[in-house]
Amino acid sequence: VIEIRDLHKSYGALEVLKGVDLVAPRGHVVSLIGSSGSGKSTLLRCANLLEESQQGDIRFEGEPIKWKGHGLNRHPADRAQVTRIRTNLSMVFQQFNLWSHMTILQNVMEAPVTVLGRDKAEVEEKAREYLAKVGIGDKCDVWPAQLSGGQQQRAAIARALCMEPKALLFDEPTSALDPELEQEVVKVIKDLAAEGRTMIIVTHDMRMAHDVSDHVVFLHQGLIEEEGAPAELFGNPKSERLKQFLSHSQ
Ligand code: ATP
Ligand code: MG
Repeated sequence: VIEIRDLHKSYGALEVLKGVDLVAPRGHVVSLIGSSGSGKSTLLRCANLLEESQQGDIRFEGEPIKWKGHGLNRHPADRAQVTRIRTNLSMVFQQFNLWSHMTILQNVMEAPVTVLGRDKAEVEEKAREYLAKVGIGDKCDVWPAQLSGGQQQRAAIARALCMEPKALLFDEPTSALDPELEQEVVKVIKDLAAEGRTMIIVTHDMRMAHDVSDHVVFLHQGLIEEEGAPAELFGNPKSERLKQFLSHSQ
């Protein structure tokens, strides 16, 4: 679905990504691990064009993203393409980012109705289905503030699903949560993986990465230091940096 080759991204003089390749084939789960500041969030943000990259090739279903301009004025050439890609690579953030003035149901319905112009009644039916699927079908009419963190994050996942994206991008979906709430969200992510959804997951939860991933990528200072199948990468890490990283995370 998504294919990134030799991606370079700098903020001013700070080179954050120094030539990264990342491929998420249809139906695969790729986890991205690495210490704070290694560039994980930046990579996800470049993938769905929230950030502009300076060099490299990003393809969505084989379709290359074309850029125009130079330096700070560089941007994707085709607005329709950007909307198509953001719709199809739906992102879930660490801080759930629900709209506090809308009910849970309204939150889930908002983008499909206003951005995609879908039929309201059909979207409502879908939204209720997705909320039930993540286990909060009874919370449609409450405000976000009335939910626990785990429930809010599940609502955010339902909202991402309601866009019917080709892939889901998660940026530390469980790190704002208490351990017991974290497990509710891990369960939802495991269910999605078992359904064969394409996902890229940035996480510090090594157990989840081990359990749900087809492929794990360890990023270190803007470069891929090691990658592989989870059993291999966690069971038999080769690089010293990965060994050290894993020994610091339980
Ligand atoms: P964490 O695990 O803490 O979330 P990360 O791997 O997601 O870390 P990034 O958020 O991708 O790391 O940041 C990589 C580097 O880029 C950091 O040094 C950060 O300070 C820098 N950076 C990120 N966003 C910006 C920005 N908008 N402007 C300038 N520098 C930035
Ligand atoms: Mg981050």
